[in-house]
Amino acid sequence: MDVASSQSSKSKPRATASCHPCRTRKVKCNRLSPCEACVTRGIPEECKYSAPNEDRQAIAQADMITELRGKVNRLREQIAQRGAYRCSSVSSEEDEEEAAAMEIVYSALRLGPEDLVWKLVGRIREGEDVRELARDVANYMGEDDSVL
Ligand SMILES: [Zn+2]
Ligand SMILES: [Zn+2]
Repeated sequence: MDVASSQSSKSKPRATASCHPCRTRKVKCNRLSPCEACVTRGIPEECKYSAPNEDRQAIAQADMITELRGKVNRLREQIAQRGAYRCSSVSSEEDEEEAAAMEIVYSALRLGPEDLVWKLVGRIREGEDVRELARDVANYMGEDDSVL
């Protein structure tokens, strides 16, 4: 039976990625979680796989994008709701600005060049204001900050 054939979306199959115990003991690993060798040895909880660096970066980036997407959606909803009740005097301009900024950052994370993406991820992690980031993205992309 071929266990690894279920997902074939990515470019090429990962090279041997044995779990830690199997790598240490240089035994064959069937790459399950936990793998057969670890289960047989009675240490399924020690069966860990270390993601290569790029993987970890990709995961961090994916997390960030998911998070941002959620934020953008929430903000959009808030703005839509406020727009429905026009009477409120709350300055939704700022919210709109923030949502727009988030969309810029968000699309930069998805489509931007890698060095920009990692710069952004780092700065988002540090809690930098999204409008600051959007401004820098716009500069980086060689555009002014006219939004959409
Ligand atoms: Zn293993
Ligand atoms: Zn294992």
